Amino acid sequence: MLKKLFNSLRSPLRRGKHPHSTPQVLNSSQHPINRGEISRYAISVVERLQQAGYQAYLVGGCVRDLLLDIEPKDFDVATSATPEQVRAEFRNARVIGRRFKLVHVHFGREIIEVATFRANHPEGDDEADNHLSSRNESGRILRDNVYGSLENDAQRRDFTINALYYDPATERILDYANGVHDIRNHLIRLIGDPTQRYQEDPVRMLRAVRFAAKLDFDIEKHSAAPIYKLAPMLRDIPSARLFDEVLKLFLAGYAVYTYELLVDYGLFGQLFPASAKALKQNPDYTDTLIRNALASTDLRIKQGKTVTPAFLFAALLWPALPARVIKLQERGLPAIPAMQEAAQELINEQCQLIAVPKRFTMPIREIWDMQERLPRRTGKRSDLLLENPRFRAGYDFLLLRESAGEETGGLGEWWTDYQDASDSERRVMIRDLSTQDDSSGAPRKRRRSGSKRKRAPGADGAPKPAASE
Ligand code: ATP
Ligand code: MG
Repeated sequence: MLKKLFNSLRSPLRRGKHPHSTPQVLNSSQHPINRGEISRYAISVVERLQQAGYQAYLVGGCVRDLLLDIEPKDFDVATSATPEQVRAEFRNARVIGRRFKLVHVHFGREIIEVATFRANHPEGDDEADNHLSSRNESGRILRDNVYGSLENDAQRRDFTINALYYDPATERILDYANGVHDIRNHLIRLIGDPTQRYQEDPVRMLRAVRFAAKLDFDIEKHSAAPIYKLAPMLRDIPSARLFDEVLKLFLAGYAVYTYELLVDYGLFGQLFPASAKALKQNPDYTDTLIRNALASTDLRIKQGKTVTPAFLFAALLWPALPARVIKLQERGLPAIPAMQEAAQELINEQCQLIAVPKRFTMPIREIWDMQERLPRRTGKRSDLLLENPRFRAGYDFLLLRESAGEETGGLGEWWTDYQDASDSERRVMIRDLSTQDDSSGAPRKRRRSGSKRKRAPGADGAPKPAASE
């Protein structure tokens, strides 16, 4: 409703000739945001800074989302006060960050992020002894602490739709970069020269995709064009930052669409090279498994359930395992050690790019190990597995593999039944296993090799040569 009202409004009159030095101003009757939708803490931070004589606005995602009738994830404030000046105004404020200094003002569990107005980096400046700002040889910004005016701050932001400033005191929106126009037209557009802006910070390519998926916007064609070519620049981004970004990409509730865009723009292969290789070698299985994992993540998020990054990474990397297991087996390693080794190798390689913390890599291994153990059900094994804290994740992962077409001999269904069964029914189920043939999963009869179970359907034998793309 609000959106419609907003869309039907006439464009505000442009003031001044230069769009970038004078903002378009939307007063309260020209936009649908009302103060009631805004965190009272965010408003109090802005008001406090204004009372202390500084300029302060709500900015970025919260203004964008409110205009689109989406509930903002968080509220960011931009101000003329330096981080130290901000900290001096609040009791519960902490200065954080090095590359980009910010102040976090804490109100219980809510954090209001306050950033000082910044200027774009003077290009070509001799920055040898500049400790506030610096770039590397490819133009990437390494430090970004050059403060500036409100106008400067608008220009250094990534997308036009993220450069809108809302003043809760006057209820006016300031638009320096035609962001309102792009919101109306559902466009993600970089401010300034796209190639240069991506070179300054290649993560902006991931942000473009993230917002396109979240908002269901198109990436404007000039902003989209350089992405494919510049995608390899992601390799230079510190792995810890990429981990944060990847979580934002896949845990925002739009993971399937995000994944499609990442693949289309050649970004997925930069983030997950081994998985991208599996996508080429075994496209149907890999794509289905990843999609199904992401679809269930999206669903869980919509239902307000928790999702663990470990499950997500376990799924993203799983299709890359078989080829490695085979390689190691060809070098003479027995199946189980080959599987263990391949898992470790794969995780280590992935962590070079994306620093997945140990608290998640351990469970990834456990989920994978569980895939070895779920077929082995005789004796007390099944009951022990059920008590294993990783059982649920392991079982869900088994169902995921089956959903992608992996042949497990009905193992998922067996475990589904087993969980529902009474004690006596369970005993019968276990007894039945040993009277069945090889599919029983009896450990001695079972081929313990990772080969059959680890391999995707159609991938029996050596992985197929890369499919043409
Ligand atoms: P959301 O919080 O919904 O993910 P957001 O737009 O608020 O989206 P944040 O990461 O919270 O994103 O960043 C806040 C604002 O800071 C952005 O709206 C943008 O104006 C600016 N910003 C963030 N990252 C960058 C970047 N890499 N380059 C330029 N500006 C950025
Ligand atoms: Mg934000």
